[in-house]
Amino acid sequence: MTVPQIETATTYPFLLTEDQEQLRREIRDFAAREIAPNVMRWDEASEFPAEVVQKLGHMGLLGVIFPVEYGGAGLGYVDYALAIEELSAVDGSIGIIVAAHNSLCTNHIFLAGSEEQRRRYVPGLASGAKLGAWGLTEPGSGSDAGSARTTAVRKGDCWVLNGNKTFITNGHYADVSVVIAVTDRSQGTHGLSAFVVEKGTPGFRAGKKENKLGLRASDTSELIFEDCEIPAENLLGKEGEGFIDSMRVLDGGRISIAALSLGIARGALEASLRYVKERRQFGKAIAEFQGIQWKLADMATELDAARLLTQRAAVLKDAGHKVTRESSMAKLFASEVAVRICDEAVQLHGGYGFIKDYPAEKFYRDVKLCTIGEGTSEIQRMVIAREILKVVPSRG
Ligand SMILES: Cc1cc2nc3c(=O)[nH]c(=O)nc-3n(C[C@H](O)[C@H](O)[C@H](O)COP(=O)(O)OP(=O)(O)OC[C@H]3O[C@@H](n4cnc5c(N)ncnc54)[C@H](O)[C@@H]3O)c2cc1C
Repeated sequence: MTVPQIETATTYPFLLTEDQEQLRREIRDFAAREIAPNVMRWDEASEFPAEVVQKLGHMGLLGVIFPVEYGGAGLGYVDYALAIEELSAVDGSIGIIVAAHNSLCTNHIFLAGSEEQRRRYVPGLASGAKLGAWGLTEPGSGSDAGSARTTAVRKGDCWVLNGNKTFITNGHYADVSVVIAVTDRSQGTHGLSAFVVEKGTPGFRAGKKENKLGLRASDTSELIFEDCEIPAENLLGKEGEGFIDSMRVLDGGRISIAALSLGIARGALEASLRYVKERRQFGKAIAEFQGIQWKLADMATELDAARLLTQRAAVLKDAGHKVTRESSMAKLFASEVAVRICDEAVQLHGGYGFIKDYPAEKFYRDVKLCTIGEGTSEIQRMVIAREILKVVPSRG
């Protein structure tokens, strides 16, 4: 164990191992060299950073949480959260691309797939040779994901998929997509199943690419299925368990959105700390005003508290515990704190916070996704309430 050497505005809740320090340093150097110079260009053009994504694969960041024998880096959620935070402190778009690929698509296959399916898909995805997407949301079903309309009907040795998924991260670029579809409507959420669909399958294509407020270098697209036939063996997990498995996938996924929130908020806080020391008004650096210092103190304290919740969820997840409550709490708190921090960051920059020459403006736009994706704040509160009410038995 070693005391963190990297200078950041905030501290970690526990001492990192040498390997974790090394991982952070590598990602930080990479982000400064390969990501930072391009961030605004990608943002303005909504350009998917394909080359950088390929390099992240070479660094093992597209398979962080998967065992080495499946082509992964053999690390856990603590390392994964560190990685997402470091990337997102420079560009949240990279953070969400990595998150959707790792803890949604690849993890669904790893968690629910047969050994044959794991061997078939995980090594390609974990090494970064292939990119993954995960499709649950539909135009008519977001928070109420169990009311999905996309259907999968068994026909001989195939399943035939029809319907639309919307807002799917990496949708256009994914080689492998995991998709949830109705296999038996009479069974409600127990009538949904998961399927692996490969790029190029006839009847399957990416549709509208969304023009977004933030995270503009990430791709958010429709997935369209028109009499799309996939082999029977592409059913992932047991028939009827696709929704339940998706909820287990989201338990891990929400840790990544908490880490995405931490990264964006830290980037905004660090930019603010630099700015308030440079900017002079009334004859002194604005950092010298108590009103400014109190804002900074609140931002840093809330950020550290969010990191504590995130790391608690990650540590418990790595120890094999069910983390439904902990990951929802981390995601809820970190995302709402991050929105507040990015708002304050713009305020601290004054008029310069409103223009694109300074990074506060982009952090402010990017961060809003964090209170929406992988379940809105309202849905996290429902999940947390359900979990804590379970603990106390009802009377009568
Ligand atoms: C950039 C981006 C990337 C995304 N990536 C993916 C992806 O890769 N894969 C994927 O499957 N999905 C993805 N999504 C979809 C995302 O998960 C959904 O947008 C989100 O779950 C909310 O669903 P909705 O947009 O349909 O909102 P709605 O469910 O229509 O919600 C609208 C509002 O109503 C509130 N609300 C709904 N129900 C309740 C309730 N019971 N009580 C109180 N309030 C309620 C919500 O909190 C929200 O404020 C992405 C979305 C975005 C914007």
